This record gives sequence, structure tokens and C-alpha cells, in this order.
Amino acid sequence: MDHPVVVIGAGPIGLAAAAHLVERDLPFLVLESGDGPAASVRQWGHVRLFSPWRYNTDAAARRLLDAAGWSPPDPEELPTGAELADRYIQPLAELPAIAPHVRYRARVVAISRVDVDRLRTAGRDATPYAVRLQDGTEITAQAIIDASGTWRTPNVLGANGLPAHGEQEATASIDHALPDVLSADRPHFAGKHTVVVGAGHSAATTLLALAQLAEQAPDTRITWAIRSQEPDRAYGGGDDDALSARGSLGSGLRLLVDKGLVELAAGFKVRAVRPEASGAVELVSQRPDGSDWTITADRVVAATGYRPDHSIAAELRLDLDPILGTTRLLAPLIDPNDHSCGTVRPHGVDELTHPESGYFAIGMKSYGRAPTFLLATGYEQARSVVAALASDWEAARDVQLELPETGVCSVTLGARAIAESLGLAPDIPAKLLAATTRHLPLHTNAADAVMAAATELGIEPAAAMQLAAFAAERFD
Ligand SMILES: Cc1cc2nc3c(=O)[nH]c(=O)nc-3n(C[C@H](O)[C@H](O)[C@H](O)COP(=O)(O)OP(=O)(O)OC[C@H]3O[C@@H](n4cnc5c(N)ncnc54)[C@H](O)[C@@H]3O)c2cc1C
Repeated sequence: MDHPVVVIGAGPIGLAAAAHLVERDLPFLVLESGDGPAASVRQWGHVRLFSPWRYNTDAAARRLLDAAGWSPPDPEELPTGAELADRYIQPLAELPAIAPHVRYRARVVAISRVDVDRLRTAGRDATPYAVRLQDGTEITAQAIIDASGTWRTPNVLGANGLPAHGEQEATASIDHALPDVLSADRPHFAGKHTVVVGAGHSAATTLLALAQLAEQAPDTRITWAIRSQEPDRAYGGGDDDALSARGSLGSGLRLLVDKGLVELAAGFKVRAVRPEASGAVELVSQRPDGSDWTITADRVVAATGYRPDHSIAAELRLDLDPILGTTRLLAPLIDPNDHSCGTVRPHGVDELTHPESGYFAIGMKSYGRAPTFLLATGYEQARSVVAALASDWEAARDVQLELPETGVCSVTLGARAIAESLGLAPDIPAKLLAATTRHLPLHTNAADAVMAAATELGIEPAAAMQLAAFAAERFD
């Protein structure tokens, strides 16, 4: 009998993988630690997504749902996390083709091969996987699709990636990203001083909600602590963001800081957290002269991002990028040290492969510590990996992905100025980047891909090459 493909996690990406497995007629079992599907998404159910419905559903899932009489949401609407779960993920998990193959309250704690440890090579690839659950039971699997996300492993407050001194002792005063400050968690924040630590979308979302709360509860005070000296990156692309909701998060935040409604502490690198007897908490950084710089608040929101937990796969042969904790081939495409674009080159099974054959981390977890993951990326990963498991290599390698840009892409910002000097419209660099990204897999070198994109867009080859030369340093 064929062992099933085990999918870890019934979030949007794990269930998309399930939909593709149904279409490919491969046996599968989804193991989910929560009581139902979308357990992590429901924890941030009060947050509105910045991408509209048309980017948020998977094609195979849609085909199965449509066949079951599903009413699709308005493609231009922005759902909340709860709406994403109620209107899409839950119905998908309840389909007769999927529901019998999902097990809830089934936390995976370790993966290995049956009777074979990490050291042993002989016969390894032909040996089924052994997936151990928290209750001690073990399930055998022909392959593993790990879509367990990163929500359960948030980053710490410490600026150096280690817990700040005293952070563990102060947990009662610290909320992890995205507390529901306007509703369920309101009593913790109304009329209080909150310091939000972090520079990403989660921090911006919480700061905007706190500002709304401050209008209703006037004694509410808000401080925003970021490691960098300049908040520009956190403000994002504003009107240039292809997802207007994502752009307006940053623009709104800039306005709050300019108006003095949010006090900005730039260059604040948390080293220590000191709980005070009054219930307040003191965050400690260091000034350039070596003296302590402190912020005292009633509550701290740690919106410092997430990291992948690879411990369940510790007995497998993984080849992880030392910076991001992704596969080594994916890392250069998404490393935030080099990339601020919302786009990523289309990628699939080849970029997601580890030395351990048949184990793939997809979805949010595939991005490791990189912060720019979008559902659309994960759906294409799921499609490609499942096609490979079905030995349909042509489909597995025919990866296609068009993502909305953030508008803060360091390539396009500079390129826009060059475009202007060449008499081209300001949106041409972004369009050229997107088209080149699409053409890259079809060409042996980047220059040919740029030329094909230029022809498609009707741009003079010389102008296109000038733009591409500017972008080349960062454009893989
Ligand atoms: C606040 C917020 C807003 C976002 N907005 C957008 C947006 O607008 N557009 C967009 O494209 N993306 C957005 N994202 C990013 C991303 O698309 C989501 O995080 C998405 O939920 C990731 O899906 P996933 O299936 O990879 O992981 P998750 O949704 O985290 O699902 C993982 C599942 O695995 C389960 N699990 C975890 N560990 C185990 C285990 N050991 N055993 C069994 N089960 C386990 C969890 O319970 C969970 O159900 C947002 C993310 C956040 C946090």
C-alpha cells in the first residue's frame, strides 16, 4: 500500500497542497495541531489583509470549491484573517475530498525515516518517513510537505536576536505581534502607554489601531521603537505600492509620527527588559556615549517578525541558508539585506529541494526569517511540489508567478529616476522588472530576458539595457 504524503499544517498553504494532491490523485494526510483549519490565521482574525481576494486563493482549491457550489468573494475586496478563514479555508477543509484526510489536534513533534537515522545513507531515499506526533503515535509517509508556518515562533525583543536580558521574566507585560487592541485586548491598552517594537507591517498595523484607540481613550500613549536610525523603509512605498492597503499602512504611520501622535524612538536597540513593581516595564537600549537609554511603558508589543522552527526536522538532512534558514537556492531571491521588492522570481520544487529527498518546507516557513511572503507565492510552491511528487516534472518546473510590488523596491526607486531622464513613464521600470522576471526562466541569460521584456513592452532596447544595468547588481 502507498504511504500517504503527509502535509503538516491546515493553514492556507497546507490546504492548497491538499487540493493539488486531490487533483493528482495522490494519497495524503494533513496533520494540524489546532482544533480546526486556519488555526494561526484565526489568531490574527481581526487584522485586514493588504492583498485582495484575487491574490488570496489557490487555483486547485478554487476548482474544487467551485465544483461544490462555492460562492467566490469579490476579487477586489480585502478580507480580514477571520473572513479568509470563514469564507475560504474552512469550506476548503470541509470538502468531502479533503475532510476525511485531515486530522486535528495532531501536533508533529519530530520527523525521521523508519528505522534509519540521519547518519545512514544506504537505502535512505527508498525508506518511508516516520512522523511522530505529540501523543507518541507514529505515522509513515512517502513524502513530507511541511506547511507549518512561523506564527508560533516569533522573534524576540533583543536587538541581537537573543532574548533581551529579563525578557523571559517580563512576559506578563509583553504581547506578541498584533494584539486586538480595539476589541478583545482593549483593556490592556486603553489609557495606557504602549511601546511597539519593530518596523514591519505588523508593527504598523498595531500602531494605527492604537492611534484609533487613543481617539476613544485619550490617555492612551504610543511609542514606536525601531533599531534603524531612519523609519523610511518602514513607511513603505505609499502610493507606489501595487497593493494600496499595504502602501497606506506606511503612509498612515508616517502621518501619525509627523503629527506627534506616535513618538518615534529611532536607533533604539533593546538590550534589557526590566519589570517594575508597579506592573510597568522598562526597555533599555544604549546611547552612542554608552549611557542607558530607557523607555518605560505599561505594555510592550513585540512586532519583531518570525523565525522558522526547524527542530521537528532535526533528524533530516537539511541544507539551510545560514542567514535566513531557507533553502540555499531560495535565499538569494528574498534576502531582505538585498531585496525590498514585493516580487520574487517564480520558483518551485527545484528551489525548495533539500538533500533529504521528499521533504519540502513550503508557505510562510519556506521564507525562513524573510518578511515578504505572500499567499500567492505559497500556492505556486504547493502546485509545483505536488506536481513533482506526481512525477510530472514538466508542470513542476513550469513555475509562474506575478506578484504586486511593494513600491519600496530599491531597484525600481533608483530606476524610476533613470526612466525619467530617458523620457519613459515612471511605471516602466516596475513593468520591465515584472516582465523580465517572467521571461527569465525561458532564457539562458538575463540580458535576453530583458530584451524579450523590452520587446513585449515596446521599450527601446538601449533604454531597457540602461535600466537593467542599473538593476543588475541586485537583480538575480
Ligand atoms: C497579520 C498578518 C497579515 C498577513 N497579510 C497577508 C496579506 O495580506 N497577503 C498575503 O499574501 N499574505 C499575508 N500574510 C502572510 C501569510 O500569507 C500568512 O501568514 C499565511 O497564513 C501563511 O500561511 P501558511 O499556511 O504558510 O502558514 P499558517 O497560516 O501559519 O498555517 C500553519 C498551520 O500549521 C499548524 N502547525 C504549526 N506547527 C504545527 C505542528 N508542529 N504540527 C501540526 N500543525 C502545525 C498551525 O496550527 C497552522 O494552522 C500575513 C501574515 C500575517 C501574520
